[in-house]
Amino acid sequence: MQFSSLHIIDPILQALQEEGYSHPTPIQAEAIPVVLKGGDILGCAQTGTGKTAAFAIPILQRLGESRVQGRIKKIRSLIVTPTRELAIQIGESFSAYGRHTPLTNTVIFGGVNQNPQISRLKNGVDILVATPGRLLDLMNQGFINLHDVEILVLDEADRMLDMGFIHDIRKVLAALPKEKQSLFFSATMPPDIVRLSSTILHNPAKISV
Ligand code: AMP
Repeated sequence: MQFSSLHIIDPILQALQEEGYSHPTPIQAEAIPVVLKGGDILGCAQTGTGKTAAFAIPILQRLGESRVQGRIKKIRSLIVTPTRELAIQIGESFSAYGRHTPLTNTVIFGGVNQNPQISRLKNGVDILVATPGRLLDLMNQGFINLHDVEILVLDEADRMLDMGFIHDIRKVLAALPKEKQSLFFSATMPPDIVRLSSTILHNPAKISV
C-alpha cells in the first residue's frame, strides 16, 4: 500500500517522501482512514509501531481542510502524553509532516521555566502537545483555553495512569468541548484504562498492532 492510496493531500505526501517513508505501517494503514472520516480510535500499540504518524498525519490533514481564518490561532488539537521526551518527539513529528502546511504546534512540559512556553502559547498555535501536569498548571493560570479543541489524543494512557496522572487527566477532559474527535492509545488495556476510554470515546474503531 502507498500513502497516496490513503487520500493524503500533496503537501503532507511530499513531507513524508522527504522523511523517507515509502509505505504506511500497519497502524497507519488502519488508523488514517478512520481519523480522516472523523471517527474515534481505541488503539492498542507500542512506541515504535509508527503510532505518532498514525495520528499526526490525519490530524494535520483534517485541520488543514477546515482552516479557520483569523489573526490569533486557537488550539484545535490537543495531544496529551506522559513524558517530556515523548512530547518533544511528537512535536517534532507534527513539524516534520506539516512542514508544507501553515499549521503550527508547540510543546509544553514540566521541569523547565514556564515563561518561554507561555509566550509561545500567546502567539497562538493550532496543535498543542503537552504533559498532564504542566498542561493543568498553565490552564489553571489562565494561559490555555481548550474550548476550540476539535481533536484530542491521549497517548500512552496506561503510562499516564501508572505515573499518577489520572486526576490531572480528568480535569483536562472536563475543560474540553463535549463534541470532539478522540483518539486513545495505550500499550496495554487493563480495566482502569478500558473504563477511562469508555468515558471519552464514541463508537471507536479498535485497532491493535
Ligand atoms: P513511533 O512508533 O511513532 O514512535 O515511530 C517510530 C519510528 O518510526 C519513528 O522514528 C518514525 O520516524 C518512524 N516511522 C513512522 N512511520 C514510518 C513509515 N511509514 N515509514 C518509515 N518509518 C516510519
